[in-house]
Amino acid sequence: MKLRTYWLKSWISILVLGVLFTFTNCEKENELFTEETSEETITTQEKDITEKAYPNKSGEVTEITYQGQQLTVEKIDGLYVFEGDILITPEELQNANKSTGRTKKLWPNCIVYYSIESSLPNKQRVYDAIAHWKSKTNLQFVKRTNQTAYINFRKIISGCSSQIGRTGGKQNINLANGCSTGNTIHEIGHAIGLWHEQSRKDRNTYVNINFANIQPGKEHNFKTYVQLGKDGDEYSPTLDFGSIMMYGPYAFSKNGKPTITKKNGSTYSVQRNALSIWDRIGVSRMYKKVCGTVPNMSGYYKANDGGHYYVRHIGTNVYWFGEHPSGSWANIFTGKLDGNKITGQFYDVPKGKIQGRGPLKLTVNYNSTKITKTAGSNFGGSIWTKTRRPSNLPGTRTAGFGVRNNINNLTARWYANDGGYYYIRQVGTHIVWFGERHFTSGRPPWSNVGTGVRIGNIIYLNWADVPKGNANNNGTLILRVDTANKMTRTYVTGGFSGSSWSR
Ligand SMILES: [Zn+2]
Repeated sequence: MKLRTYWLKSWISILVLGVLFTFTNCEKENELFTEETSEETITTQEKDITEKAYPNKSGEVTEITYQGQQLTVEKIDGLYVFEGDILITPEELQNANKSTGRTKKLWPNCIVYYSIESSLPNKQRVYDAIAHWKSKTNLQFVKRTNQTAYINFRKIISGCSSQIGRTGGKQNINLANGCSTGNTIHEIGHAIGLWHEQSRKDRNTYVNINFANIQPGKEHNFKTYVQLGKDGDEYSPTLDFGSIMMYGPYAFSKNGKPTITKKNGSTYSVQRNALSIWDRIGVSRMYKKVCGTVPNMSGYYKANDGGHYYVRHIGTNVYWFGEHPSGSWANIFTGKLDGNKITGQFYDVPKGKIQGRGPLKLTVNYNSTKITKTAGSNFGGSIWTKTRRPSNLPGTRTAGFGVRNNINNLTARWYANDGGYYYIRQVGTHIVWFGERHFTSGRPPWSNVGTGVRIGNIIYLNWADVPKGNANNNGTLILRVDTANKMTRTYVTGGFSGSSWSR
């Protein structure tokens, strides 16, 4: 639980930055998004399209602790206003000292409930903004029926504003007549958890803040999260001028001169048409985590125990086969994914010599490139890094342990009529295996893990190919133990070819 909390907290600090993390392993993402670059439209420069909750009002500037963070805000009409359009209610503030509060700020299962007040003019901007979010992210927007937590779009005299993240109750997105579809997209961004782009801690690398041009009392809107006492990571490699969450150069200007410029002094354009590519990547990652799914983990991982790990991820099930190239040990793992946590069991199998087993708890990072052990004292590895699968992988071996001629203990290397070696381990009634087609160089055409239970002489197994080989199937199997050294398949799903085993 500790670790989960820690993880959620780190996520939240990332989330709060709106645009997260530096890419270390970005090949795939780049491929995914390249074709959409042309969508990153930039509008012509406007004087100030910055959303403001209270365009013509100033309040007392004060410090509050919100979600464990010190924030400089303005108090206007009993509400705290941060960065111009982020409203924080006194009730929220009361709850904010709970360190886990922020974990409740995300929309479970990626479902955002909403209602639209009948008095809101031009509802089409809301429909269009929601349609945009639905088409560009993995979030779902569902009309509220009786849910307690929902966004309520309503009319306000002036300004556009929203609270940050899910409050747990009714939360308003306030839209004056001047708020466009793009402004509405921006405000929804706040409501699902995004803060402004210019609050990045490294923004001084990209922009100058011209305090002389800022309206008196609004300077706090130009602080970075670090200046506000916040920690976190940036998600995109550089400040994203294209983010729909980026302030324009004239935000809170008192004299018509820019308050934010590029480092060379020039102004820039911001847009309120669409989520930028980086907005989308950030939201997608953030909500994939919150919704309990991460990008598919399937692939090859190298671990700090020197092992090769071939991971298969199907729904919430995670399987792997791991082996040390020396042949000293080999194991299979089966686990369940919940959020970014994986809980399961490992069993050494007789492709190696060691005979360990035990529980393992792991966490996986947001893009499934790194797995970290959080519990499992009798397991050597603790960090797994996803990388390119080598072209030559450890070949088949003689059994490192096992027996023969014992119908009560199937632990051994078995040979099947599909050309595969199956390294089977029986512990009580529990049966696991790693199977791979015999090969002498390169990679096997297929490899799989099996895990199940033996009841009498019947074995019920789930099996899944792992990416040591190239096959990608999974299913169930029922085997019958015929004699001490012979088994026969009696049922199969999922395209499994072996049907008899011997040792
Ligand atoms: Zn805003």
